[in-house]
Amino acid sequence: MKAIINANIVLKDHYIMGGVILIDGDKIANFGKAKDIEIPAGAEIIDAENNYVGPGLIDIHTHAADNKWIFEEPEATSKHLLEHGVTGVLPALYNNLNKDAYIKAADNILKANEEGKFDNFVGFYMEGPYLSPNFGCERDKNVWKDAVVRDEYIDIVKKVKDSAKVWCLAPEREGIDQFVKDVKAEIPNIVFAVAHSEAPPHLVEKYIPYGLKIATHHTNATGTIEHYSECRGVCVDEAVNYNKEIYAELISDRMGIHVVPYMQRLVRKIKGDDRIILIADQFVCDGPIPPGFEEATDLHFDNAGEIAGSGLTLDIACSNFIVHTGCSVCDAFKFGSYNPARALNLAGYGYIDEGNIANLIVVDDKFNVKKVIFKGEKI
Ligand SMILES: [Zn+2]
Repeated sequence: MKAIINANIVLKDHYIMGGVILIDGDKIANFGKAKDIEIPAGAEIIDAENNYVGPGLIDIHTHAADNKWIFEEPEATSKHLLEHGVTGVLPALYNNLNKDAYIKAADNILKANEEGKFDNFVGFYMEGPYLSPNFGCERDKNVWKDAVVRDEYIDIVKKVKDSAKVWCLAPEREGIDQFVKDVKAEIPNIVFAVAHSEAPPHLVEKYIPYGLKIATHHTNATGTIEHYSECRGVCVDEAVNYNKEIYAELISDRMGIHVVPYMQRLVRKIKGDDRIILIADQFVCDGPIPPGFEEATDLHFDNAGEIAGSGLTLDIACSNFIVHTGCSVCDAFKFGSYNPARALNLAGYGYIDEGNIANLIVVDDKFNVKKVIFKGEKI
């Protein structure tokens, strides 16, 4: 038995200040105000020192950590993410991989997970193969620009099977209908995401009944359809804002480059706190920081000076979102843990409750991670 004391416990919509959380094995056994919780004799004491204690972060969309590809170095990246409080991660596999590379990447990750070297693996975030070739970093390396062909994708679908939790697509790609049906047939619980797309709203909405409920990096790599000269059209972002059931992923970097702070506040207002998911979407790139962007220490640049994914981990994204939107620490846990767990139906994850998995992190009021407890063990 372990007892976290002096904990400002973060619940879904409020706090218990000066609380205690009891952990039995890998589960939360009890929690509450200090006066109401009896700490069993011999329990190991973990002092939260009056910091916040909330559920471990769940990053549903990141390709890399510590500037290393997760699929190439699953063990090292898993450890790095855990140290940043990311107790659940969905490695994103992008369309710069061909069929064999997708399968090899999935194999590497599944093997590491089986061997106990990637215990915070939750499942795959399949960012591709069929996105719009007009958007996203490394567009020139997209090997899936041609027709949607069953023989080319079905082996990938069968390889990842139920390990895939989210599958991204551009609804406007010709032949995507068959792809959606095939993925759904193989993986009935799959969640679809609209990504790297310039689909008109009706095409995005067409796939909601199939399980489309995530907007991949909302407002990034989404098009604007021209309506009339000087008249704003509607496209993916508007469909996402319009449809309540769709969760909006946001990349919140320090300078607000991916999503300007005003837009972060606007999206929060439109979508509401139940539909925001913060993601890191870290990518490997090590071009120099161009002049004028010295503060952008959580971004990656390519050698041409273009941004190339983020250099974020989710704890830093939460910290940035607090600054850009004025949200509370409680809200940040909602966007970084509770909402992602709910969007993916991860029972027992994303909030503090009796019987839930004891993935807990201690953070200060700026969301600096002080301690991490993963499956009941201190990291
Ligand atoms: Zn992307």
